[in-house]
Amino acid sequence: MTARDFQPILTDIVHTLTPDLGKEGQVAQYIPALARVPAAQFGMALRTCDGHEAAAGAADTAFSIQSISKVFALTLGMREMGEYLWDRIGREPSGTAFNSLVQLEFEQGTPRNPFINAGAIAVTDRLLNSCDPKAAMLDLLSGLAGEPVHFDEEVAASEAATGYRNIALANFMKSFGKLDHDVATVLDAYFHHCAVSMTCRQLARATGYLCRDGLHPFTGQPLLTDKQTRRINALMLTCGTYDAAGEFAFSIGLPCKSGVGGGIVAVVPDTLSLCVWSPALDATGNSLLGRRALELFAQKTGLSVF
Ligand code: GLN
Repeated sequence: MTARDFQPILTDIVHTLTPDLGKEGQVAQYIPALARVPAAQFGMALRTCDGHEAAAGAADTAFSIQSISKVFALTLGMREMGEYLWDRIGREPSGTAFNSLVQLEFEQGTPRNPFINAGAIAVTDRLLNSCDPKAAMLDLLSGLAGEPVHFDEEVAASEAATGYRNIALANFMKSFGKLDHDVATVLDAYFHHCAVSMTCRQLARATGYLCRDGLHPFTGQPLLTDKQTRRINALMLTCGTYDAAGEFAFSIGLPCKSGVGGGIVAVVPDTLSLCVWSPALDATGNSLLGRRALELFAQKTGLSVF
């Protein structure tokens, strides 16, 4: 399939979903700056491994990438520190909500995986050993998107002001001796990572290395090795959509990573990377129409890792 074949599919998906816009689900309520985002929006974009792009709907509207940033934090972590990264972070699906405290107590402050909040906080702590995680994130994303990418400082401040659960998770890990750095410093970087603002088109480009064995979508230089890239895709498939990961694998069959801003990125290895966005979420914190769009995309194209 070429990008020309994908364009009508994306346009068709937008037409199918438009009547449902704003009807179901709810925008994230626990972050005040996100609770204000109008629900009735939808966008979608993809980029093939050979650099062709297709887009439909609000593909150029910026939104808060939220937990999609966990993929890029993990990328920085793998690049900076290799196996040492994994000393304090597991690789199993959690089966609990992305901000759950329960499991962390049972497992003595070691998060199940890098894609739940506790796991990304642990990755951010490790990053502080070797770089400035905020600058490194913007640098990585701006290079991958091919244009400057910024933090939405209002969202970062809103998260910091109301991030009671994340503050609890970080303090809990600290109490088990599983964070090296000061909790406030780690959380400031974590909240800023979540508060990066990007469009579907930029995210489809930025995830391009995940469908190209780790090669940068624009420069062709290796960002990660092919083994590291396979591992990120494996974690996205098993842990990228929290306790809905099984359902996503069942009905979509692609490595995906979602965020409570309503974005979901997905990877078809050796073929393309894509991003869908619609702010209203389902009960598991995944974009409701985003998920439906990915199901339609998988049905219409027959693309799957299985
Ligand atoms: N910033 C959000 C939080 O820490 C990210 C969660 C998400 O996107 N699932 O709760």
